[in-house]
Amino acid sequence: MFDKIVIANRGEIALRVLRACREMGIKTVAIHSDVDANLKHVLLADESVCIGPAASTASYLNIPAVISACEVTDAQAIHPGYGFLSENADFAEQVEKSGFACIGPKAETIRIMGDKVAAIEAMKKAGVPTVPGSDGPLGEDDETNLRIARDIGYPVIIKAAGGGGGRGMRVVHTEANLLSSISLTKGEAGAAFNNDMVYMEKFLENPRHIEIQVLSDTHGNAIYLGERDCSMQRRHQKVMEEAPAPGLTEEQRKFIGERCAQACVDIGYRGAGTFEFLYENGEFYFIEMNTRLQVEHCVTEMITGVDLVKEQILIAAGHPLSYKQEDIVLRGHALECRINAEDPKNFMPSPGTIETYHPPGGLGIRMDSHIYSGYKVPPNYDSMIGKLIAYGPDRDSAIARMRTALSEIIVDGIKTNVPLHQDLCRDSAFIAGGTNIHYLEKKLGM
Ligand code: ADP
Repeated sequence: MFDKIVIANRGEIALRVLRACREMGIKTVAIHSDVDANLKHVLLADESVCIGPAASTASYLNIPAVISACEVTDAQAIHPGYGFLSENADFAEQVEKSGFACIGPKAETIRIMGDKVAAIEAMKKAGVPTVPGSDGPLGEDDETNLRIARDIGYPVIIKAAGGGGGRGMRVVHTEANLLSSISLTKGEAGAAFNNDMVYMEKFLENPRHIEIQVLSDTHGNAIYLGERDCSMQRRHQKVMEEAPAPGLTEEQRKFIGERCAQACVDIGYRGAGTFEFLYENGEFYFIEMNTRLQVEHCVTEMITGVDLVKEQILIAAGHPLSYKQEDIVLRGHALECRINAEDPKNFMPSPGTIETYHPPGGLGIRMDSHIYSGYKVPPNYDSMIGKLIAYGPDRDSAIARMRTALSEIIVDGIKTNVPLHQDLCRDSAFIAGGTNIHYLEKKLGM
């Protein structure tokens, strides 16, 4: 087992990784930018290294600086968390070349899955259902592209092969707009992702976003840990997640879960991963794979009892999975509200000093957050300041506990989206369950 791990991230996820390490008796090194010296995990870590200025490109995304931190502290492995370098194949490659373990899949797997066209192809081969689409990148020939769209049927969506974070997508409703939309998306993708490859998919009009969590070791074992419903989204960004997905049957779960686990074996996947699907009229359509831990991993942990971060570390150290498929039993229901430092009405970021913080508590409540009274939220990074997770024996009790927790939490000094979550937890369609990916934006009048 590793003796010391570098945590190459910040905020709540860095703290989450630190907690797993401590539980496992592994020493931790926190790396941070100069504005992040007061982060909770930095204060708790065995060692800390300032690797650069506030701008992420000069610190959290600075590959040589991260690897040097590993060298100077004599650590053996790096946990990249989510975001930042977590899905950067070059980073994974350089870490391993430098003789350290990168906690996550092999660089080549990250590379394939980071190219959505290649990922879809790999999934098709593995028998995972995908969205009807162009079966590969779109070429330059207008007539061919018009024909592909006609065959798929409008509306279609043009997507960047290298896209991420909900960017690089354009919906086309009529043939008149197709060609201009393709060139616009290509232009944007080239500028944003340094890769102008685009492809086309059927635009599903009322799908839900349901994803499957997997764990796969280096001994040819892979398991699925049920699903999460992440349909509550704004601008393709998840706001609230839950597990299990309301209304999904055990049969459907088994069908899609087994295919994902088999795909992991087929592609030689290593670590924790998520297969993201759109789900409409009882059918699953693969959209992408996330080759890392996800923000919303906690809801899966609550209903399975599996510590996903601990499993990631064990797998990276070469251990076989601690669980067999039959050990994974889903119990109860869990919800997660992403708490952001932002204006609940116009969603503008709201950095600043947290004057007073009172976390919620009680049976079934988990607050994964790095904030504390007096902590200053810097303006340089993502606005998420924590995740409030509520677990209950069933969905109704999880919602009731979430409502209670949201009425208790106090974060004074900055604005947060707590009011939005309070509103959602009283929303009749949400309470009924199974709303689609457009529901929140419609509710917000967007
Ligand atoms: P990203 O990597 O940017 O997150 P995804 O491919 O995962 O991109 O898609 C993000 C979101 O965009 C989905 O959750 C869904 O809301 C929407 N979306 C993507 N593809 C389609 C599609 N074919 N039909 C309808 N909505 C889609």
